Amino acid sequence: MSTAHTIRNIGILAHVDAGKTTLTEHMLYLSGSTRAAGSVDKGTSLSDVLDVEKKRGISVRSAALSFTWRDAQINLIDTPGHVDFSAEVERALRVLDGAVLVLSAVEGIQAQSEPIWSALEAINIPTLFFINKVDRMGADWAAVVAALQNEFSTDVLPVDSVQNEGDNGAVLVDGWADPAPALVERIAEVDDALLEAYLEGQTPSVEALRAALAAATRRRGLFPVLLGSAKNALGTDRLLDAIVDYLPPAGRDREGPESAVVFRIDHDEKVGRIAGVRVFRGCLKPRDSVWNATAEREEKITQVKRSLLNKLEDAPRVEAGDIGFLCGLPEVKIGDVLGDPEPVPETYALSEPLLSVQVNARDEAQHAALAAALQQLASEDPHLDFRWYPEERELHLRIMGVIQTEIVTEVLRTRFDIEADFSAPTVVYKETPAGSGHGAESYTMPKPCWAIVRYLIEPGAPGSGIVYASEVSVDEIKLKYQREIEGHIGQAFGQGIKGWEVTDLKVTLVDGSDHVLHSRPGNFILATNIAVLKGLQETETILLEPMLAYRIAAPVEHVGKVTSDIIEMRGTFEPAELSDGHFVLCGRLPLATSMDYAIRLGALTAGRAKLSLRFDGYDPCPPGEGVVRPYKGICPLDRAKYILKMRGAITEATRS
Ligand code: GDP
Ligand code: MG
Repeated sequence: MSTAHTIRNIGILAHVDAGKTTLTEHMLYLSGSTRAAGSVDKGTSLSDVLDVEKKRGISVRSAALSFTWRDAQINLIDTPGHVDFSAEVERALRVLDGAVLVLSAVEGIQAQSEPIWSALEAINIPTLFFINKVDRMGADWAAVVAALQNEFSTDVLPVDSVQNEGDNGAVLVDGWADPAPALVERIAEVDDALLEAYLEGQTPSVEALRAALAAATRRRGLFPVLLGSAKNALGTDRLLDAIVDYLPPAGRDREGPESAVVFRIDHDEKVGRIAGVRVFRGCLKPRDSVWNATAEREEKITQVKRSLLNKLEDAPRVEAGDIGFLCGLPEVKIGDVLGDPEPVPETYALSEPLLSVQVNARDEAQHAALAAALQQLASEDPHLDFRWYPEERELHLRIMGVIQTEIVTEVLRTRFDIEADFSAPTVVYKETPAGSGHGAESYTMPKPCWAIVRYLIEPGAPGSGIVYASEVSVDEIKLKYQREIEGHIGQAFGQGIKGWEVTDLKVTLVDGSDHVLHSRPGNFILATNIAVLKGLQETETILLEPMLAYRIAAPVEHVGKVTSDIIEMRGTFEPAELSDGHFVLCGRLPLATSMDYAIRLGALTAGRAKLSLRFDGYDPCPPGEGVVRPYKGICPLDRAKYILKMRGAITEATRS
């Protein structure tokens, strides 16, 4: 194991092309982990997600890279920058001690920088900025800092500066060599003792200033800005120093009860599923049994590995504060908590897959194999929410964006040897009851069976989900059947009368009975499915559509065209803010009308607009808009046929 005294789990985050991969390569090189820095442009980079992915399938996708700098072990958790992979960014964020947000000195704040910043803010992660590409023509790091202070936080603080900016001969000017009064003042402001001394006319030492800056950075009071050119290895050493000096070390309580979270799943042909974990407390070893608190089962670890330059090597243990890889957990999923959940930070939903696509095997004979492959992928990544509708021979996945379909296509090809095509994505709608109503079902024939239920369905507040209650005593319906109903009720609302998941409602079991002789397990599930759909027919439902909150910044001459576009897309906006030749417009847009808006806006403004979008809940769809689809599978309202099918499925299951 490493001899390092402390560990930093760091995420390097950026909009695509800001230079994240190039920067990572240089850090590895400087730390002595590689003999030469790989190059993105020559295709020799070690850490590049897509490059690696292309060559070897998903098995080594963005592995965590570990190296030492001074007396610290740094675990770099490489996170993909494209918006379609935000689910991965979100998972990675949960295990970070600190983050480096990389920006280009030429392009400045870009579309993806903003949601990343909001996420870091929401989960309170200390952050450094690295403004890259100061060598490139058009670089203006001071303008980028001004934009950061203006749009992100007034606590963004640069220390160094650049000479010969925009030229290959650009060099850094060390801000600590002779600290500018403005820098001293800004740091003194966040440290009472320093401020007092400063006001009394004393000049604080550089050590004192750096210590105060570190303390402020760790509590997100200040956000230091580093400058450089990753391509020319300029500023990389100072960034590494800043990571060790300013970002907080991981807690290393090795003694307490173990606690870890799974933040990635890899697949290896030989050992099967490999779970990437961050350990928050205790220690995990081969042959340990550990409680999976999310899945509520005992797991048995067979091997522990650590990641060294994209290769996994056997390790005797993984300890608190560190990242490790566990084998022998065949059912484990991303997001599972192992051991005590208490020290594990909450998840933060950066985004939700709001699009649905249909997947087809190019060779019809591979339909079942494709279904099995998708099942496997979805069990590794629950976000994919795989649905198989055998009657329609349809396979559906949830995705973040179209780029993700390219990745899944590639994985299906390399890992499963299946050629698959994806349909154009459709928005994922939901339904909610339009009013109150009852739904009842008496399932008493053909014997043996008995389940009588009556439900009251009422509308709930937006975002409230499904709230269930029972007014029926356990003398009428035995506790075990009531538990069966309660456990199943969410699924019963999985598809409503418009073909979408039904949500934001209260459902109350108001009447019913079991039969001491005839009732069987599963009878109440069947009756509930029928009663719920009958109830929804009575309440009728309103279609809900996903909404996005947007922020657009662009030169003021485009304001008229942009606002009329927004109106055309059924969007809303707040009064535009104007400042030096630019306007900023904020508001909400339906996803359905704005799927390709980033491209259209780019074309409209010759690429001079900045757009950020984030999911902002579901709203009722105006009449005539949205998509109503036929029920997938046999509809419970087709009662006789449905009962026949459900009974068939049960006998089949008991036979096998
Ligand atoms: P990523 O998408 O954020 O991983 O960015 P890459 O590291 O792949 O870099 C994108 C492009 O920018 C590549 O062509 C790099 O060679 C180039 N690049 C990266 N860093 C610098 C830099 O500091 N200066 C200049 N001029 N180009 C850079
Ligand atoms: Mg990259």
